[in-house]
Amino acid sequence: MARYTESVCRLCRREGCKLFLKGDRCYSGKCAINKRPTPPGQHGQGRRGKVSEYGMQLREKQKVRRAYGMMEGQFRRYFDMAEKMKGVTGENMLQLLERRLDNVAYRMGFGESRPQVRQLVTHGHFLVNGRKVDIPSYLVKAGDVVTVREKSRSQELFKKIRENGASKPSPKWVEVNFETLEGKVVALPTREDIDLSIEEHLIVEFYSK
Ligand code: SF4
Repeated sequence: MARYTESVCRLCRREGCKLFLKGDRCYSGKCAINKRPTPPGQHGQGRRGKVSEYGMQLREKQKVRRAYGMMEGQFRRYFDMAEKMKGVTGENMLQLLERRLDNVAYRMGFGESRPQVRQLVTHGHFLVNGRKVDIPSYLVKAGDVVTVREKSRSQELFKKIRENGASKPSPKWVEVNFETLEGKVVALPTREDIDLSIEEHLIVEFYSK
C-alpha cells in the first residue's frame, strides 16, 4: 500500500494546523507549527491568501485525511460508507474514523501518536476481545475490549505506559486500566468527543459535487 514518506510536520504546515502526528513533540516548543507556521516549500512564505470555496473544501478534506493517516481511496470509502448510514453524513464519517482500531488504541493512550499506534497494531501488539487483530482499519464496536498482548508488555513503551499512564487524558467514551493495559469502548464516540477542529460539512460538500 502506498505510504506518505516525507516529514509529517510538512503536512501540518501545509494544512496550517497541528495534526498531532509526532507524539510529545507536538506539545513542545519544537513543533514546526509553532516555529514555522507558513506552508512548506520555497514559496511557502505568505502564500495563504484568499481561498476559494473549493479550496476550503479540499483543504478540510486533506486535513482530516492526513490527521487519520489515510490515502485518498481509503478515505473516500469512509465517506461512501457514511453516506449509506442513517443520520448526518459528516458526523457518521468522523465516527467511523474514530472507530478504527489504530485510533481507538491511540485514544486509549497506548501510544503517542496515530502513526505510532498504527505500527504497533500492524506488528500484532493488540487483542480485541481476546483475539489478535493486526488490521489498523478494524472497526471497533461499543463494548469491545482492547488489550496489549501479554508478550508485548515487556516492551519499553508499554512498561512506561504501565508505570506512568498515558501522557494525556482519554476521552469519556473509553475506559482504560493502565495497570492491566486494557481499555474498553464504553460507548461509540459522538461529534462532541472529537477534539480536532473540523468542519466536516466542507468534506461532504467536496465529495458531493
Ligand atoms: Fe504537526 Fe506534531 Fe510536527 Fe507539530 S510536531 S508540526 S503537531 S507533527
